[in-house]
Amino acid sequence: MQQQRTFDPVTLITATAPMKADVYGGRAKCLQRLVRLDMPVPTTVALSFDAVHRIANGQMPAMDEVLFPFGDTPLLSVRPSSQDPDWGGPGAILNIGMCDARHAQMVKDIGEPLATRLYLRFVQSYAIHVARLDPEMFDLPANAGQAGLKQALDAFEFETDEVFPQDPAVQLAEVLRSMARAWEGTTARLLRQAKGAPADAGLGLVVQAMALGVGPGECGTGVIQYVDAATGQPQIKGRYLGQSQRREALGDVEGAIFLTHDDRGPSLEDLCPDIFARLVEYGDVCRRKLREEMSVEFTIESGALWILDAVRVQRSSRASVRIAVALAEDKIIPREEAVLRVQPTALSEMLHRQVDPSAERDLIVSGIAASPGAATGKIVLTASEAQASAARGEACILVRRETTPEDIRGMHAAHAVLTMRGGITSHAAVIGRGLGLPCVVGASDLSIDLRKGLIISPDGRQFAAGDVITVDGTAGDVLAGQPAMTEAALDGAFQTLLDWADDIRDIGVRANADTPLDAKTASNFAAEGIGLCRTEHMFFGSDRLGVMREMIFAETAADRRAVLDRLLPIQRADFGELFDIMQGQPVCIRLFDPPLHEFLPSDKAGLRDLAEQLALPLFEVSERVAALTEYNPMLGMRGVRLGIAIPEIYEMQARAIFEATVASATPVVPEIMIPLVSAMKEVELVKSRIDAIAASVAASSKVDFKYKLGVMVETPRAALRAEDIAQHASFLSFGTNDLTQMTYGLSRDDAGRFMSAYVQQGVYDEDPFHSLDVEGVGELLSIGAERGRLGRPDVTLSICGEHGGTRSAIAFCRSQGFDYVSCSPFRVPVARLSAAQLTLLDLANSDI
Ligand code: PEP
Ligand code: MG
Repeated sequence: MQQQRTFDPVTLITATAPMKADVYGGRAKCLQRLVRLDMPVPTTVALSFDAVHRIANGQMPAMDEVLFPFGDTPLLSVRPSSQDPDWGGPGAILNIGMCDARHAQMVKDIGEPLATRLYLRFVQSYAIHVARLDPEMFDLPANAGQAGLKQALDAFEFETDEVFPQDPAVQLAEVLRSMARAWEGTTARLLRQAKGAPADAGLGLVVQAMALGVGPGECGTGVIQYVDAATGQPQIKGRYLGQSQRREALGDVEGAIFLTHDDRGPSLEDLCPDIFARLVEYGDVCRRKLREEMSVEFTIESGALWILDAVRVQRSSRASVRIAVALAEDKIIPREEAVLRVQPTALSEMLHRQVDPSAERDLIVSGIAASPGAATGKIVLTASEAQASAARGEACILVRRETTPEDIRGMHAAHAVLTMRGGITSHAAVIGRGLGLPCVVGASDLSIDLRKGLIISPDGRQFAAGDVITVDGTAGDVLAGQPAMTEAALDGAFQTLLDWADDIRDIGVRANADTPLDAKTASNFAAEGIGLCRTEHMFFGSDRLGVMREMIFAETAADRRAVLDRLLPIQRADFGELFDIMQGQPVCIRLFDPPLHEFLPSDKAGLRDLAEQLALPLFEVSERVAALTEYNPMLGMRGVRLGIAIPEIYEMQARAIFEATVASATPVVPEIMIPLVSAMKEVELVKSRIDAIAASVAASSKVDFKYKLGVMVETPRAALRAEDIAQHASFLSFGTNDLTQMTYGLSRDDAGRFMSAYVQQGVYDEDPFHSLDVEGVGELLSIGAERGRLGRPDVTLSICGEHGGTRSAIAFCRSQGFDYVSCSPFRVPVARLSAAQLTLLDLANSDI
């Protein structure tokens, strides 16, 4: 039986001491590594999570044991050591051990002013952070001198009825107790949970001998790092400040000097070349041995260098990719580890401009973060104003209650979109993500007054059309004015990392792409084809909408065919262009899906225009439009139901696809997908018509071609009957937007109204349109996949709803053996990286 190793609650950090990050925390472990690397680390003792937890509950360790390594007159610092340094912890306390006797001794050693400064600083931080006294009582400048010190000591006594503790053991015990308790408090717990820490995450503490940084000879402290935190490029950064402690050199501090030689002023390299050279060497050693870019905190004490601490360099998303790739290229970490080190969301941030994290934010309203990135522009309230604005070369933000397909051209013209209604799969959100357009939806606290051309924030501020606002689609915020931005930054490291991810991942990634622009984006991001082309979006172009409307108004099938003949060459050209861009990669074209009324005007002016265009009386047009209105259009005459009831539309689309296929310069095997299927017979009927069209195009063109016909599984019944359906379908693609809508009986366009109440009250863990419901919708996916395979063992399985690019959906699809996921083009890089990470994690688990 394996022996369980026991760890001392209090351990001196030496090269050989048993020291684990999950027992003593990451800082303690890192300090041991520095010791092992022969760096001059002051004597340090580590307290385990368990010891600190006990301290919080009143059980102090033996203080003489903690203090033993530091001799008779200790001067100490205490710093937190949580398992993951990113989880934070209470602030460091320095100079523990300062007391009257020590002060008197120090006056002799380093002079009165410095000794008094150190004592005063300790009294201040002890009073405020340990005894938790009113900070105002101790608000004294660092150079307040002996009088200031007396004032602080008196204030302490006045507030606590006790003299300032003089025994270092008592001081240290109180510091440990206050830090341990702070960690267990609710605020600290919530803060670290927000950073991904488990609720019961432990805190270790490190007690370290002070390297003074003040005194005779060269004394001071500094921080050095070896890469630029914004770009990840190698570069020495940091500052050094003589006669200072801890991180005082950082920030805009008078007297702080550069590290490397600099024409703008003095530098550590000029002042102490040997120490500078050692720091540079330590950076290289850290990088190779700790396998990370570190920021090193150092102190010079009378000319002697001490290394107090080293932490991971805080970094931007872009730098995180550059650093991981450079470490792997230098063979310091394997490629697989580089792939695991980068957060997929970092890639998404790199693809778009973002609000500078340090910029001030004047919040107007928050909504659902539907499409990442940020953009600034003038408010426009209609799609046509957006187009006019674009024509004038002015950036604009399209603000709508909700968008409809008619707004598409306005969305193309806008720099960002804001809606008051709708959720993560609403029209605005789907199109926004497809276009890479920052988008906030469901900002229901905002009101809009279309007549006055105003939007009104929840706090009553009015913003008129033409006012400048910023949509932060990453955070889901709408901001007044124009905060500073950081630019999108795709570099070689981004491509390299994704190439490595592609070598690892075991599930395909395609893109949902409706237009040539989408397809180009998809192809630039190395999507392995188009998994969903929503063809209805092609009919909103100015050259098509009118024809489409004529088709809807046609009286007979023959009339309809005649109008559709005019759309045929247009569609053929659309598909031809997609085939060209995708260069032989699979292109899955979904036949027409939405209810026809979406193509008709809804207001009076639009109806009048239409009557004029069709040369029909207004009342007749109004009647026909009214007749097409459905109580519940999402469950009405749409998808394959249109294909059965008005077969001419699908016939035209199939012909256009096949004619584009035979004309394509690169060989293609088009994939045709039937939406909203719920019965096998629907597929049989549509398939027989499409087969006939294929035969006719093959005969007339004398070109033999192949094609695949598949079904979009987006009704619960299609999932349940997948065995029958798969007999006529070579692929099944799960449309999880509609499937979620129908599984929950939850309107995807209206759920935004109550979703936040549902999530806040814990009814749903998350918005199921945002995060795949693996329990319910997932069960239907599993059933559909299993039954689909019974009907056709080699059936291709995929997912193409908006969930397709999310980590949880990719994990689920991999677990079910799906062939690929399809997601909006700008999510493709994120999906490629997530898929690779999930593959690696599975491999690691299977090795255990
Ligand atoms: C779906 O329903 O999941 C889907 C991809 O189709 P749409 O969003 O166009 O309804
Ligand atoms: Mg659908």
